[in-house]
Amino acid sequence: MDELLEKLKRKEEILWINNKKVNNERMEELESIPKNSILDAEERLNRFSDYIKICFSETESTNGIVESPLTEISNMKELLNSKYNSNIKGRLLLKEDNKLAIAGSVKARGGIYEVLKFTEKLALENNLLDVDEDYSKLFTAKNREFFNQYTMEVGSTGNLGLSIGMASSAIGYNVNIHMSADAKEWKKRLLRENNVNVIEYDSDYSVAVKEGRKLSQSNPKSYFIDDENSIELFLGYGVAASRLEKQLNELDIVVDENNPLFVYIPCGVGGAPGGITYGLKELFKNNVHCFFIEPTKTPCMLLGMATGKHDEISVKDIGLNEITDADGLAVGRPSGFIGKTIEPFLSGIFTINDSKLYEYMRDLLETENIFLEPSAASSFEGVVKLNKYENMKKYIIDNNLDKVMDNITHIAWGTGGSLVPEEIREEYINTFIED
Ligand SMILES: *Cc1c(COP(=O)(O)O)cnc(C)c1O
Repeated sequence: MDELLEKLKRKEEILWINNKKVNNERMEELESIPKNSILDAEERLNRFSDYIKICFSETESTNGIVESPLTEISNMKELLNSKYNSNIKGRLLLKEDNKLAIAGSVKARGGIYEVLKFTEKLALENNLLDVDEDYSKLFTAKNREFFNQYTMEVGSTGNLGLSIGMASSAIGYNVNIHMSADAKEWKKRLLRENNVNVIEYDSDYSVAVKEGRKLSQSNPKSYFIDDENSIELFLGYGVAASRLEKQLNELDIVVDENNPLFVYIPCGVGGAPGGITYGLKELFKNNVHCFFIEPTKTPCMLLGMATGKHDEISVKDIGLNEITDADGLAVGRPSGFIGKTIEPFLSGIFTINDSKLYEYMRDLLETENIFLEPSAASSFEGVVKLNKYENMKKYIIDNNLDKVMDNITHIAWGTGGSLVPEEIREEYINTFIED
């Protein structure tokens, strides 16, 4: 443990393997979330689809379902193998949450789900709707006025604020987004253009959350979306799993003992990668291996899980300052419940230096013409380093993977990008930093 902490303090790139992961063929016994919760979330999103289609015209082509493409990126795979000697054999796919409607990031999954869940509850309680009716009937000026009595609030480093803000204001809510100091100017501007109140703080993410929570508690008609503890966000993220399964089927990609799935997801407070991991483990059990990626500057989930202290430890406690170029991942303290919930399921966590975020971002743009924001490009660290760490070699043996390495389907989770304005993209593309 001391050695691990020393490496974290020195901001070294590492792979941490979670030795509390268990064989989860008998998932039911391990589940800490009531069974069928994710299915229930998926059905709720389906009920809302006609309403979403009217609210957000960009979802017309997908019939009101907010989902992203799964894209094979063979050119990128070739480049990673030649440029970094990655030695990846199986297929490489990108889950393009950068293209998710409404929020342009993975936050569209959890954020919009939680806003809709609250909306459904209000609508049912106030007889605006019956659960078996067509939900598009909610879209009236009178109902907008009704929702306008309520205020949605969230603390955010940017992307969650965008997701909650855009969704809530479209429905008619008042919205207060409590933004930490690192939140980008363009995100605040976009929100303000959509009638969202942006409240700025001079401090980090945890302070923005705390202040937002406090303000919300003083208003009985305010609903606080609690990124550090929200089960609803978690379930909304989890719906990604069954949608991904369908997309894999469409590509004729089999997931079984001989054809495992490796998934690499950037991690901030843990909700998004945690929910997705939980959903995937429910579906694919031992045949899916989920890894998180965190910046070497803010490895909060790794620190929380490895020490077993979860949200009782912050990267500040080991001398790190919570500052990284990776938007959305600049989090010092992990969620209180995610680490505990995914302890039996998560395979491990890679850490990555900031300079490489821009490198992988440029690599993807050059080979596939796909733009990811730098934090999202961190997912490639898992692919690049898979065959490099000694502890991964042991993981492969321990999990009986040595004979099936060539058959692995690798999925890098592209967690954000499409809303980044052109001039900021240019800036990113021309950013070369030293660690
Ligand atoms: C928020 C975010 C993540 C991680 O999600 P958490 O729920 O904070 O762990 C990853 N990538 C991007 C682009 C994000 O905005």
